[in-house]
Amino acid sequence: MAINSLTTAYIGVGSNLSDPIKQVNMAITALKTLANSQVTAVSSIYGSKPMGPQDQPDYINAVVELQTSLMPLALLDALQAIENKAGRVRKENRWGARILDLDILLFGQQVIDNERLTIPHYGMKLREFVLLPLAEIAPRLCLPDGDNIATLAQNIPDNDLKKLIF
Ligand code: ATP
Ligand code: MG
Ligand code: MG
Repeated sequence: MAINSLTTAYIGVGSNLSDPIKQVNMAITALKTLANSQVTAVSSIYGSKPMGPQDQPDYINAVVELQTSLMPLALLDALQAIENKAGRVRKENRWGARILDLDILLFGQQVIDNERLTIPHYGMKLREFVLLPLAEIAPRLCLPDGDNIATLAQNIPDNDLKKLIF
């Protein structure tokens, strides 16, 4: 890849603690100031039911599109720094409540599988709170395996996902 070439990446944003709407908005603001990157689209804000343990608050979700010249691991480092700054504490229990989760859904058409990164995000095809916001901003987008986002979004049960209107 040429130095400085830009890749379109999609970031899933989620929160269910400490005023989650504020957390998601603050994360979007932080992404807008990310080095070597530019935010080019932001979905609506959605409310979703928790995955896994049900004894936790509902989630707030959004998806952000950015153009970046960062390499994938540098982008992950930057996202984890934003999570940490928001006060995220990593716990043992998977899918438990969290202040902020920033996941790389897609990084261009790259397929990455190493101990720190799996891209496309392994869960994205099964998560309505990822597919519907993503389809809102990039309906024609396809995954490296050819699946179209709008089609995946149309076919997933909505699990009571709600687009929040302000
Ligand atoms: P899930 O991955 O099911 O959405 P989670 O987002 O809560 O769960 P985290 O605790 O945020 O999981 O992340 C655990 C690890 O996942 C991170 O330390 C990171 O190295 C790894 N990881 C692998 N692929 C990705 C990706 N595409 N985006 C973000 N983190 C990833
Ligand atoms: Mg996640
Ligand atoms: Mg995560």
